[in-house]
Amino acid sequence: MTSRYFGITRVRFPYALLMRPWLNWIERVATDHKVGGSSPSGRTTFMDEHEKWMTKALQEAKEALREDEVPVGAVVVHQEKIIGRGHNMTERLQDPTAHAEMIALSAAANTLGTWRLEGASLYVTLEPCPMCAGAVVLARIENVFFGAPDPKAGACSSQYNIVQDGRLNHRSNVISGVLRGECEELLKSFFQKVREKT
Ligand SMILES: [Zn+2]
Repeated sequence: MTSRYFGITRVRFPYALLMRPWLNWIERVATDHKVGGSSPSGRTTFMDEHEKWMTKALQEAKEALREDEVPVGAVVVHQEKIIGRGHNMTERLQDPTAHAEMIALSAAANTLGTWRLEGASLYVTLEPCPMCAGAVVLARIENVFFGAPDPKAGACSSQYNIVQDGRLNHRSNVISGVLRGECEELLKSFFQKVREKT
C-alpha cells in the first residue's frame, strides 16, 4: 500500500514532538506533497488541516458529554468532506457496540453506498479500542488520527496495534496526539464529575 504521506504517518508522533523544528519539517513535507494546501502565504499547514477535522470530532464528543456519555466523538472524512459522524451512545442505546467510531463508520458506509471506505480518514478523540480498530481494518480506512491515547485499551499502538497488524489484510496510517490536550481534558472532566457524584 502506498502512503499518501510517503510513510511519514507510520511513525507515531508524540504530541511534544510536534514542536519546531519538527513542525517545520512536517509542514514542509506536507506542503511539498500538497497535503493540506500549499499556498505560501496564509497556507493551511499539515496539522491545521487535521486539527480542523479533529475539532469536528470534538464537537461530537461534547454532544456525548451533554448526554452523560463518556465523551468520545468521531468523524470520517473523504475527499475533504465529512461523510460520517458519531459520538458514544452506549448508555443511551444500552449497546456495547455503540462507540463513536462504529457509528461514524456505519454512517460513512451509508453515505458512500459501500462498506469499503478506501481513501477515507477517521478522526477520533480517543484512541480506538480493539472492536473499533477491527472495524477500521474491515472498512479499509486509510488514515487514523486520534487525540488522546488510551493506555488501558488502545488498539492503535498503546496496548495493541490492530490497524497495523501484518497478519490482517489491511493496514492504516496512524497519527496520534492531534489536539490531544483538548481531547484529554474532556475525558478528565467527565470522569471527575462521575467521581463527585459517587
Ligand atoms: Zn471502540
